[in-house]
Amino acid sequence: NLLANTPAADDLTRWDRENHLHPWAEVKSWRKADYMRVDTAEGIYLWDGAGRRFIDGPGGMWCVQIGYGRAEMARAIAEQTMKMAYTSPWTATSGPTAQLAHMIAARTPGDLNTVHFTTGGSTAVDTALRFMQFFNNRLGRPDKKVILAREKGYHGSTYLASTVTGKERFEAKFDKASDLVHFLPDVNPYRRPPGMSMAAWCDAKVADLQDAIATLGADRIGAFIAEPILCSGGVIVPPEGYHRRTFEICRAHDILYISDEVVTGFGRLGHWFASDDAFGVTPDIITMAKGMTSGYLPLGACVISDTLMARVSAPDGQDVFYNGYTYSGHPVSCAAAIANIEIMEREDILGHVRRVTPQFHSRMRRIADRFDIVGDVRGMGLLGCIECRPDLHDPTYAKDLQFGARLDAACERRGLLLRPFGAMAVFSPPLIISEAQIEEMFDIMEAGLEELS
Ligand code: PLP
Repeated sequence: NLLANTPAADDLTRWDRENHLHPWAEVKSWRKADYMRVDTAEGIYLWDGAGRRFIDGPGGMWCVQIGYGRAEMARAIAEQTMKMAYTSPWTATSGPTAQLAHMIAARTPGDLNTVHFTTGGSTAVDTALRFMQFFNNRLGRPDKKVILAREKGYHGSTYLASTVTGKERFEAKFDKASDLVHFLPDVNPYRRPPGMSMAAWCDAKVADLQDAIATLGADRIGAFIAEPILCSGGVIVPPEGYHRRTFEICRAHDILYISDEVVTGFGRLGHWFASDDAFGVTPDIITMAKGMTSGYLPLGACVISDTLMARVSAPDGQDVFYNGYTYSGHPVSCAAAIANIEIMEREDILGHVRRVTPQFHSRMRRIADRFDIVGDVRGMGLLGCIECRPDLHDPTYAKDLQFGARLDAACERRGLLLRPFGAMAVFSPPLIISEAQIEEMFDIMEAGLEELS
């Protein structure tokens, strides 16, 4: 009985403080930080060490699609663990790995059928970018490797993925391979100059891409990497038509279009993938992770089009794509992903997301209407963000950089967790959230906003 050996709560708190450096920890105070210890979870709810219940507003870390505590997931994981926990992807495959590759290929758009498994999102992005380098080297174009990325984009914490992550977050204390990347300015419609129409904003953002190509030269640019919605950057939905137009420009210049669907994939917007179903684009490469296993185990993938694979195979001489991870396509993670997809299909979770999305967004609009302190609400599917007023056009904006944390604290006292992010609070609840639970979540948010108003 594992539970009988669980250490005392005070010891756990102390060990976490003394020995566990969390992601994005403030180094001066990390040993004083108090992280909530989540003890149990069921459906969309979490319970902390004191037995208090919370709605999991962020859905873990944008990843808990089917909710917590699924016996079917536990069974799939246990069965594969007992049957065969690991085999090297260099020399062998496993049943679940092969089956999942096939299932993903059937759900990605167009001819994106080549699935290279990774351990998570950062390694999926690294793989995509390294593939672009390999591709252009192999085609005899060693200078065509600059990556166009976007301010406010987030692509991960490995060296290459962090290099293409919007530089404002990392430039302070890390070295980056800055000659590899060129950033396009913020696409956030909320930041457009006062009075500018959305259509004009879209034109301006497309022009940013065209300008970069004109300045750098298409023969130097290997890829454009973009999240369909910039999630960690504050759930930024680019203006309508932006994706389609930028995709066509990339195509015209033989610049690989990499869609980072680590958050938007696996149902978040009511589709397996947002690129084609929501935005009408069939990328050259899609990266995915997070919702693939609904957070039950780590996994990621970089999916490449057959067209690219054919081109990279064409030149004479053999070449090895030296990329892969010990745990690429881990059999147990793949078994979890298969069970996750089966549950999502059996319960029509994509349809459910599409059905509850209007309710979710009408409650967000009500927040914008009711509260003066709110400057903007935005989102798509089950992705939402509340940003405070005054906005960036106002010099007092800096005073409100604690808004997200203050709103999160006010909601936490009432049983809802949010993800605070400067002047914003973002949320992406488990996709199984019911209509009644959406009401519960927004009622708490409104109560929290009343407290702050
Ligand atoms: N890409 C996007 C769009 C993400 O949001 C994230 C993580 O939040 C990543 C990549 C990195 O994924 P991981 O943390 O699994 O390495």
